[in-house]
Amino acid sequence: MTIETAAQAAYIVAALLFILALAGLSKHETARFGNAFGIAGMTVALAATVALAIGREIDGTGIALLVVATLIGAAIGLYRAAKVEMTGMPELIALLHSFVGLAAVLVGWNGYLHVEAHLDGAEAAVLESQGMLGIHSAEVFIGVFIGAVTFTGSIVAYLKLSAKIKSSPLMLPGKNVLNLGALAVFAVLTAWFVIDPQLWLLIAVTAIALLLGWHLVASIGGGDMPVVVSMLNSYSGWAAAAAGFLLENDLLIVTGALVGSSGAYLSYIMCKAMNRSFISVIAGGFGIEAGPAEDKEYGEHREVNAEGVAELLTGADSVIITPGYGMAVAQAQHGVAELTRILRERGVDVRFGIHPVAGRLPGHMNVLLAEARVPYDIVLEMDEINDDFAGTAVVLVIGANDTVNPAALDDPSSPIAGMPVLKVWEAEQVIVFKRSMASGYAGVQNPLFFKENTAMLFGDAKDRVDDILRAVAALQPAR
Ligand code: NDP
Repeated sequence: MTIETAAQAAYIVAALLFILALAGLSKHETARFGNAFGIAGMTVALAATVALAIGREIDGTGIALLVVATLIGAAIGLYRAAKVEMTGMPELIALLHSFVGLAAVLVGWNGYLHVEAHLDGAEAAVLESQGMLGIHSAEVFIGVFIGAVTFTGSIVAYLKLSAKIKSSPLMLPGKNVLNLGALAVFAVLTAWFVIDPQLWLLIAVTAIALLLGWHLVASIGGGDMPVVVSMLNSYSGWAAAAAGFLLENDLLIVTGALVGSSGAYLSYIMCKAMNRSFISVIAGGFGIEAGPAEDKEYGEHREVNAEGVAELLTGADSVIITPGYGMAVAQAQHGVAELTRILRERGVDVRFGIHPVAGRLPGHMNVLLAEARVPYDIVLEMDEINDDFAGTAVVLVIGANDTVNPAALDDPSSPIAGMPVLKVWEAEQVIVFKRSMASGYAGVQNPLFFKENTAMLFGDAKDRVDDILRAVAALQPAR
């Protein structure tokens, strides 16, 4: 068997492992296996690619460069993955997508420099004789376009998610016309490049795509960022598939298509969960207009201390905890799990209500609660628990804000209008754990904090949960 056929066989194995990885990652119970399949698939793919390159490469410098680049990349990847906090995952993912985009741009440009730049050269002649030159030019052009959109889009997503720039949507006048215009120009330039490949056309499409990627993501508001991250995931998959066609690498085509379609499907599911139009989000907030500036008067808020909450909790028959990003920042999940255990021992019915985009990545809260060993059967999804708030004595909102904002339901001018939220205010008493009256990720004020049955427990969520644990211990033993 030649190295070529062995590598092709290894690619098929890797592709199957990637499919198994996706299947495994779709459920809690099998997620670890899914991850293991993914790692195995990537190891096989890398080994086959390096072996193939060594088999084809006559030049020792090329092999050395490949090995050194692989080692440096692996070292940086391992270091970053070990260091990243759960709350920093989405921005790391966004940054990684930007690399995929950049890689697709470089592969496209490399394809141009080898073929279209030397139309009288050997490679162009071979493609010409097979009638494939036009297809090659289209692959170069489309790959560079998708890659460049992914590159700048991912960088803006990274900057927004890490709060290095404001998360509110950029509202350029005629933004939809700009986006549609860029797409129309792209279509015309593609046809032109296929007929007559010229350097300036490739430079123009690179520049237009870089600007379009930046504008598309900058136009999307903070609350919709989860969908954007998964949409960029999808774009990065298509960029990789385009690079796969150029490099004639079947595994890259299959993997790119898997990432592209699963990312698009995840975005679609998230849009449905958040009641957003899929088309409007992928078109960069198409149809979303700026709401009026917030100058509403909400009245006074009430405060409570940890002892007061301890008494309330031990006297309640039912409690629902709705965690959010603040619980993750404070790393309060272990204290919350301990409080849950103690209350359940005292006969209180404690459950969790999880919003689909609570925290900073899908499933964020489920991961934290599982890590703190909260039993799965009391952790419910929003749809499963949303009708139960009305009959509940106490709700603890721990570091959540946008996901419990009633304005999403009753204020059509709110930037998060229409997004389904946990109806915590229907409970008898709501306690909100946060450090100040500051707004959440979407940057909108939350009328929940000013409701009659809401009291604020200010401070770091972990410290306050620990205070409550001490106060509960100091109270009379269980009934
Ligand atoms: P939010 O981001 O809306 O609010 C979190 C709240 O936690 C803040 O108001 C903050 O208030 C408080 N907080 C921060 N640190 C602490 C701390 N140490 N102790 C106590 N409180 C703290 O959270 P939600 O989870 O409700 O909503 C998630 C938001 O993120 C949504 O807008 C969603 O669209 C978006 N998003 C979600 C993603 C996902 O996939 N899940 C990905 C990207 C964005 P204060 O500063 O006063 O303490």
